[in-house]
Amino acid sequence: MLIVKKFGGSSVANAEKVLNVAKRIGKSYDEGNDVVVVLSAQGDTTDELIAKAQEINSKPSRREMDMLLSTGEQQSVALMAIALEKLGYPSISLNAYQVGMNTTSTYSKARLKNIQTDRVQAELERKNIVIITGFQGINRFDDITTLGRGGSDTTAVALAAVLKADRCEIYTDVEGIYTADPRIVKDAKKLSEITYDEMLELASLGARVLHNRSVELAKKYHVELVVRSSLNYEEGTVVREVCNMEKMLISGVAADKDVARISVIGVHDEPGKAFNLFGLLAKHKINIDIILQSVGRDGTKDITFTVAKDMLEETLDLLEENRERLTVKDIVHDENVAKVSVVGAGMVSNPGVAAKMFEALYDAHINIQMISTSEIKISVLIDEDKAENAINAIHDKFQLGNIKLKR
Ligand code: ADP
Ligand code: ASP
Ligand code: MG
Repeated sequence: MLIVKKFGGSSVANAEKVLNVAKRIGKSYDEGNDVVVVLSAQGDTTDELIAKAQEINSKPSRREMDMLLSTGEQQSVALMAIALEKLGYPSISLNAYQVGMNTTSTYSKARLKNIQTDRVQAELERKNIVIITGFQGINRFDDITTLGRGGSDTTAVALAAVLKADRCEIYTDVEGIYTADPRIVKDAKKLSEITYDEMLELASLGARVLHNRSVELAKKYHVELVVRSSLNYEEGTVVREVCNMEKMLISGVAADKDVARISVIGVHDEPGKAFNLFGLLAKHKINIDIILQSVGRDGTKDITFTVAKDMLEETLDLLEENRERLTVKDIVHDENVAKVSVVGAGMVSNPGVAAKMFEALYDAHINIQMISTSEIKISVLIDEDKAENAINAIHDKFQLGNIKLKR
């Protein structure tokens, strides 16, 4: 069998953990498998590197940040090869350049375009365990790019897809995918399986256990994923197209604090204004999430929308520059907001989920600023400091801690 195994930063945080993971990899190799390993930077390395850059320059270029951040993963793969060497296993570490992992050119949020397989396959034929840097890629200028925070999951799934691996295993610091972040909701329940669509929503809505692009790729290339703990041998959660389990009404609750709210006030109430505003933002590749427009009054209206926090400054600058053209009287923003969402395929055929969610928030005295819904999710925007409280209240209201899971 060909297995791709990805280990997250906390799973390789220090020498002891690297050696333990190396033993686990060696065991799989001893069982006769071809093993490709994808690693993240150790522990908080990526955050530390960002802090180091900030000490020197508060607005570093994205190109140089990618150059810097990619070093974290390069350390991990070399250390893992050194650990396997000590245990007597043949292995080789490779970075994105050596493999040929080609991405789009957008620094800090590049997307994988294609991956060369010759080198990896040649190393597997030599019976090497191949250890590859997660998170990084190479663009058409031969520069190093990164795939966005948490992007190593995506590297692993993409490799599993191009190598036609039999399995893709994502090892992390929790035992699988839960009904909510188990660090925030004490009675969160581990799911035995979840569909790509539900996991894609959860990942996009803040459940960082999987990078959302990794789930997108897994769905597109039919890569069955297993998320499990690197610390024990408990069964994890399988992410697949269809679940045997009865469709659960709600499969999870997630919170995303990486959001900012912007309102443009006093826009002329006439056709084309929303187009002008969002057309401008689209031209500058600024992603918009929830949108709310007020009913026109006295010839003007307000438009409120959310963006990722790291796009806030750029968006505000752009709006300020185009204030007159957009006929905007005032621009206000709030960074202290969070988006809390419930996700579940069963929602499609069960009315009343929204009402129940709003009731949970009302009971917890939490005010809702904005609402957005789709077939399988409902999201609300609330004050950031109420996020944990809200997740717990909603999780309780739907009694997710008591759900019965069957295979
Ligand atoms: P890694 O370094 O292994 O990639 P991450 O920190 O990126 O690990 O992701 C794992 C973390 O995701 C967990 O420690 C947990 O706090 C968080 N998390 C958020 N939502 C969920 C969820 N629904 N199920 C499991 N973990 C979750
Ligand atoms: N090291 C990167 C990060 O911290 C990538 C990853 O962990 O997946 O975001
Ligand atoms: Mg991660």
